[in-house]
Amino acid sequence: MTEELRQVTEAARWLDEDDRAVFALWRREITGEIDRADVGAGAVQRMRTRLDRCRSLVAALDAEPRCPVLGHTVSLWDGEPSAEWRGRIEPHVRDCRTCLNRLRGETPVDRVLARDKPAPVRAAAVAPVPAAAPASRRGIRLSEVLVSVVVVLVVVAGGLTAYTQMPKRSQPVAKPVAVSPSVTTAASPSPSCGAGLRALSADEVRDGATCLVWQRRIAPATYTFAGARTYCAELGGGWRVPTRNELAGIVTVAGPVPTIDRKAFPGTPEAAFWTSTKVTATQAWAIDFATGEAAGDTARSSRIRVRCVRK
Ligand SMILES: [Zn+2]
Repeated sequence: MTEELRQVTEAARWLDEDDRAVFALWRREITGEIDRADVGAGAVQRMRTRLDRCRSLVAALDAEPRCPVLGHTVSLWDGEPSAEWRGRIEPHVRDCRTCLNRLRGETPVDRVLARDKPAPVRAAAVAPVPAAAPASRRGIRLSEVLVSVVVVLVVVAGGLTAYTQMPKRSQPVAKPVAVSPSVTTAASPSPSCGAGLRALSADEVRDGATCLVWQRRIAPATYTFAGARTYCAELGGGWRVPTRNELAGIVTVAGPVPTIDRKAFPGTPEAAFWTSTKVTATQAWAIDFATGEAAGDTARSSRIRVRCVRK
């Protein structure tokens, strides 16, 4: 696989589900796998515009060294493409000369894809093709194509609005963009426990996006890394120290400090909090709610705050 093809494939992973379906069908047409995918020129054009933006995003993320501002933006990112992180990264890349320059003089997507022989890609897995169909490599059955086309058309209608409504700096708790219910069944593994942060009691808050239950008010004490683990465990009921990604999920990107929903988590100090994610034998990740930043070099002997979490 060429570097350009890898980048395009990676960019496609950043597309919304419906765009990925258009991409998969369009790709099969370009590589000659199917004769003609009536995806609709408009849908393809719109998908390509967004795919090109995602290519810029991937190129900026791939760059060595990375733009320092972008590096800061993605300090909490877990490396998996998502609409939420696209919403955080894309506005910067669009406005940043350094990041945009990473994609100078790239080959148009269709030419990159045309050079590729038919091969399964991740994105193809999203294409809504009936699984039961006999896998004849060349002759995609007409019924398959028809099903795909119908689904794509349905999705495109809903998907376009979903994309444009995507918040620029989405709250960590924001639900992923809404997609037509007719096609989401196969690929929406994210749990849902309602929308946003909801106080279950004076002591507990549920994050609807992740289904995690958080301690609402925290202990006034500070703990070492090991002490925090003991403290949460001794609460019983499955309480534990959150992982770095879990805790990052309740950091608010924009707005006042502390960088957390202050209604859901009243009285949160502008202070560092433990995560359970270890870095070395003596260091672990902590997140500072004064800045929203994560620090991987926090000495495990440091005494800082903890907010326990449970399923
Ligand atoms: Zn930049």
